[in-house]
Amino acid sequence: MIDFTFKPFNEMTDDDYKLVGFKSGLEIHQQLYTDRKLFCRCPAGLYNHNFDAEILRHMRPTLSELGEYDGTALMEFKTKKDIIYHINRESVCTYEMDDTPPFEINEQALDIAIEIGMLYRCSIIDEIHIARKQYLDGSIPTGFQRTFIISVDGKVPYKDRNIEIFQISIEEDSCREVSDYGHTRVYVADRLGMPLIETVTAPDMKTPVEVAEVGKILSNIVKSTGKVRTGAGAAREDVNVSIEGGTRIEIKGVPSLKRIPLLTYNEAMRQWNLLKLREELKKRGITPETFSHKTENITRILRKTIYQPLANAMNEDKVVYAVTLKGFKNLLNWQTQTETYFSKEISDRVRVIACLNTLPNIIHSDSTAETISIAEWQKVKKTISATDEDTVVIVWGPEADVITASKEIAIRAKEATTGVPSETRQALKDGTTGFERILPGPERMYPDTDLPPKRISDERINRIKAHLPELYWEKERWYRELKVPEDLIEPLAVSRLTGLFSKAVKEWKIDPKLAALVLIQFPKRLRRMKINFEKIDEEVFAGILKAYSHGLIEREGIFPAMSFAIRQGIFDLDDLPPPIEKEDLKEIIMNANAELRRNKIHNTNKYDVILTGSVMNKVRGRIKSSIVIKSVANFAKEHGNV
Ligand SMILES: [Zn+2]
Repeated sequence: MIDFTFKPFNEMTDDDYKLVGFKSGLEIHQQLYTDRKLFCRCPAGLYNHNFDAEILRHMRPTLSELGEYDGTALMEFKTKKDIIYHINRESVCTYEMDDTPPFEINEQALDIAIEIGMLYRCSIIDEIHIARKQYLDGSIPTGFQRTFIISVDGKVPYKDRNIEIFQISIEEDSCREVSDYGHTRVYVADRLGMPLIETVTAPDMKTPVEVAEVGKILSNIVKSTGKVRTGAGAAREDVNVSIEGGTRIEIKGVPSLKRIPLLTYNEAMRQWNLLKLREELKKRGITPETFSHKTENITRILRKTIYQPLANAMNEDKVVYAVTLKGFKNLLNWQTQTETYFSKEISDRVRVIACLNTLPNIIHSDSTAETISIAEWQKVKKTISATDEDTVVIVWGPEADVITASKEIAIRAKEATTGVPSETRQALKDGTTGFERILPGPERMYPDTDLPPKRISDERINRIKAHLPELYWEKERWYRELKVPEDLIEPLAVSRLTGLFSKAVKEWKIDPKLAALVLIQFPKRLRRMKINFEKIDEEVFAGILKAYSHGLIEREGIFPAMSFAIRQGIFDLDDLPPPIEKEDLKEIIMNANAELRRNKIHNTNKYDVILTGSVMNKVRGRIKSSIVIKSVANFAKEHGNV
């Protein structure tokens, strides 16, 4: 192995990543904007935590046709979880619970996915064949997800090269997890069965920053169709990372592209450090063949401990086991990620597989501070005949869980002798990754025979091709020529309102800067005011912009018109206060002047500023502010020193 130590994130160079052979690819899951779910007629996007029914299920592994158990299936079985589904009759029918066969594929979802495939320059396949993908974590009550490939072999330009797109599939979304504690996991089923696409890229990205940048491009292309869902949970990234000699590890469900660089850096570091750990073990003569451990029940020895987590366990009649890892001295303090050590790999397995969730769930003899006393450690070591070359891991809880945990501790320690175990990992808030589950085997997919194959007709392909939107970077070029403010260019290019922008500029001759402001900046401002902008549809925007271009509302009136339209749900010119003519303005100024005088505000040197403000409050949005300012100034001139 090359002699290299990972530097802090900010100090890593492209050459450093090249040295360790960093490689990464993306699997992007993106919900499509459809009215209904993929294989039934339930509404899509109707999220609600209220429920009419609860279903309890247990997952059991079955032998595959090859006569093997799937690794994930076995792991999920070991966790002995009660899986509970919350079901709302508005958003779920008997299909999702596998009591009714699937309906025909949602045609709307099919069209959107084909369109996205074309934008990624993929080949669209001729015939759809539906498959079942095993899902045994409980997130899909039937234990499988219906999925089918829709396009393959695409490419997306990035820097001076192309990123290869392996394939795009359409699949059903899973349930949303509500809680997972001890042996109970609760899901809400509203999201289940909603159509999403999974886009898989080749591992073409060479640095953590590249992964995020490519993710951004892919997501921008998809968003620019205006036919995908946005907002929390609508797009989720799985990021796979490997280094030279490491293992392809999937980091699951990264909720935001911004978090990718740090996560992939930490994962690469983890793999590198695990390979170094294997070297160290080899030096100590510990290999898969010579690895040895011993497990013993030490409840009796620690019965009187004052170390709180163990003392609590004793009070609840739980048991305490010690696992001796022969020759592992100090290796649980081996650094794996930023401020993360090998002991975390073990603790994670104990938490996920043995369901011992309360942390700390293990203590070990490589870090004795703030655990049981030195005398107790000595007593434990003596009783189980551990030497100074060994590491002792202590775990406690209900006996069945502690037996599972002890086995997992030994399994994970032994895996250190082979390198980086195959598993999926979760994205943690601090930018490190944590164990999620054992990687499913290749026999995970099998044909689904409930629906016949479906041909994609040439007419369908041609119809979609004819309306294919322009690629967003081409739109960006045009916006730059139009001098749209730089910070609005990208959001506008990928906005669902981009078509309206072209119309506003080309047909209604609206100043591009103003149109961009209205379509991108104003909705943001409304959102900040906690006004739900999702309610305002394209027609409302169009109505307001058209009214402006015909001189029916003033520039200042656009924003008030938008917030007004949102509250009403529609835009209707008649609902707005009418624009003010110059003659009417004169009268308003006179009245305002009289009012101020009644309130004995006069003879101050800021009088005309106060008067202008008072008039503006009465006419805002109904006449240009420049006209108001000018008219007040004229009024002041005409009437001498007001
Ligand atoms: Zn349904």
